[in-house]
Amino acid sequence: MTIEFSDLPYAADALEPHISARTLEFHHGKHHRAYVDKLNAAIAVTDYEGRTLESIIAVSHEAADASVFNNAAQVWNHTFLWHSMSPTGGGEPEGALAEAINARFGDLAGFRDKFKAAALGQFGSGWTWLVRNGGVLEIVSTGNAETPLTDGLAPLLTLDVWEHAYYLDYQNKRDAYVDTFLDKLINWDFAAQNYEADRAAA
Ligand code: ZN
Repeated sequence: MTIEFSDLPYAADALEPHISARTLEFHHGKHHRAYVDKLNAAIAVTDYEGRTLESIIAVSHEAADASVFNNAAQVWNHTFLWHSMSPTGGGEPEGALAEAINARFGDLAGFRDKFKAAALGQFGSGWTWLVRNGGVLEIVSTGNAETPLTDGLAPLLTLDVWEHAYYLDYQNKRDAYVDTFLDKLINWDFAAQNYEADRAAA
């Protein structure tokens, strides 16, 4: 069994003008694919073979097996990222997730400020996440391939702040990229699904 290279949930040009088809063709078609290929090469004929991606992440993290962990976590993080954005994204959360956002951050603007500060504050490559930790929402950043899964947190959505995610469209302006994600692309429906799934599992 090999780990699958998942398709984008939309066409490569579906996020234009905010994220270009050229960026997604590189980011998904080259970067994401390379993590899948390297992972499959690394796990072939090892005890990892046949495990789920989540299990490979957990076991390699525990074993500090960086060559497997980094590729496995990057595969998971990128698949999660594609769903965290939508051609019809932006707007506001609804229902129980909206109530939880307001309870934790005051209002949507409060969430926005904290998420943006975390994304801009991540030095170098990494990810910014909205997670559910027990019953509480939190914003966390992780460096390089690190993922909140290994801390027992439930990811609700993520933003990739590796330069490969935005350099072709925004060059060094991570600030403008984060604003565009929050205003035009963020997929609140996906976050709400993850929120409800984690509440049901708790
Ligand atoms: Zn990326």
